[in-house]
Amino acid sequence: MKERELYSPPVNINLNVRGKQQSATLEINERAWRLSEAGRKVYRFGLGQSPFPVPDPVVGALQLNAHQKDYLPVKGLEALREVVAGYHNRTQHLNLSAEDIMIGPGSKELMFILQLAYYGDLIIPTPSWVSYAPQASIIGRNIHWLPTQSYQQWHLTPDTLETFCRNDPGHPRILILNYPANPTGNTYVSDELKKLAQIARKYRLILLSDEIYGELHYKHQHVSIARYYPEGTIISSGLSKWCGAGGWRLGTFAFPKSLHWLQDSMAVIASETYTSTSAPIQYAAIRAFEGGAEIDTYLTHSRKILRALAKTIYDRFRKAGIAVTEPRGAFYIFPDFGPFKDRLYERGITNSRDLCRRLLEDTGVAALPGSVFGRAPEELTIRMAFVEFDGAAALKDCAAMGEGCTLNGAFQQNHFAHILEGVEKVCEWLLA
Ligand code: GLU
Repeated sequence: MKERELYSPPVNINLNVRGKQQSATLEINERAWRLSEAGRKVYRFGLGQSPFPVPDPVVGALQLNAHQKDYLPVKGLEALREVVAGYHNRTQHLNLSAEDIMIGPGSKELMFILQLAYYGDLIIPTPSWVSYAPQASIIGRNIHWLPTQSYQQWHLTPDTLETFCRNDPGHPRILILNYPANPTGNTYVSDELKKLAQIARKYRLILLSDEIYGELHYKHQHVSIARYYPEGTIISSGLSKWCGAGGWRLGTFAFPKSLHWLQDSMAVIASETYTSTSAPIQYAAIRAFEGGAEIDTYLTHSRKILRALAKTIYDRFRKAGIAVTEPRGAFYIFPDFGPFKDRLYERGITNSRDLCRRLLEDTGVAALPGSVFGRAPEELTIRMAFVEFDGAAALKDCAAMGEGCTLNGAFQQNHFAHILEGVEKVCEWLLA
C-alpha cells in the first residue's frame, strides 16, 4: 500500500465532519488577519469578541491562582458553582443552588455535549448563532429552523412555535433561544418570554436559554425566561462576553432540579473528554461572578459605550436606506440590503455570501453573510460585530466623563473612528 492510502480514512467510517467547513466566525477572523498582514486596510466586523479588557479584580484573581494545578471536579469547582448559582439568584430572582450548576470550557462546548447527551431534535429560530446547527449536524440530530420576520425584530413568535410543535406534540426537542441575540442585537421583553414559556411548557420542550449577552442589555433590563419556565429551562452563560474573557474559555449552565439527569449525562461525557475546566480560570471566575461595585461600574460603562456605538451605526444605516432593526444589547447589528437588491444584482451580487466576498474585496470590510445564521442564501443580510476599538481606553474615558454624560461626537470620533469609517465605506459602496 502507498503511504497516502495507509493514512487515508477507512471508507466504512462515517466521519461526519468531513466536508464541513471551519466555523464561520473563526474563519472570517483568520481571513481578515491574512488580508491585513498582506498590507490591506481591513475593517474587522467578523468575529464577535468583546472589545473590553477583563476587569482588574478578575485578572488579579487569576494571577493569585496561577499555581492551581489540580484537576477539578467534572461539574466544576464547588465554590464557583455556588457563586454562579448566587449570581443567577441575585440577577434573575431564581432559586438555584451549587448542585444546579455545571462549569465547562466555554458554553459552546457545554452546548455540544448537551446535544450529545439528549436524543432530540434541535429547534432554532432563523437567524441564530452560527454554531448551534453545525453542532447538531456533527452529532447527527435533526434541525428545524423556525421562521421569523424582520418587521418583528426577527423574534420567534409563540404562534410559530405552537404551529411547529402541534404537528408532533410528544417529540423530544431542544429549543435554543438567544437574547440579546447574536446576530441581531435585539432582545425579547417579558411578555414575549412569558408567552413562549407557556408553549414550551405545553410541549415539554427543553429550553436552552443562551443568555451569554444578558449583562450587555444596554438598559440593564435583561430578563431570563427561566423566571417563567423554571422547570424546563437551562440557562447558558459564561465569561466570554460580559467579562471580556472569550479566550479564557469558561461557560456555565444552570439546570432546574427536574433536568439533573441531563446534567449527570453531560458530566459523563465531560469526564471522558475534557475532564474538567482549567483550574486557575475557575478560581478567577469566582471573583467575576461575585460581582461588586468595581464590576458593576465596568458593566455600566461597557453598556453605555456599546449602546452609543450601536445607535450611531443604526442611524447611519437607516439614513442610507438599509433595512435594519435597532440593537438593544450585545455588539451586533444585522443589516438587510434587500432595498438595494436591483443595484446589487446589476453588480452580479445575488446572495449574502457574494455580498460579503465583494464587500471585503472592494472596501476591506469583513462581515458574515446572513446565510451562515440560517437565512435564505439569496437574502441580502449580513452580520457586523462592532468591536474593533480599544475597549480599555474607551472605558477609561467614559469613566472620566462621569455619570449622566452622553458619549458625544468627540468621544465617538476618538474611540470609534475606524469602525465608523468602515460603516461609511459600506454605505458609500452600496450607494455608488
Ligand atoms: N460568539 C462569537 C461570534 O459569534 C464567536 C465565538 C465562537 O464562534 O466561538 O462571533
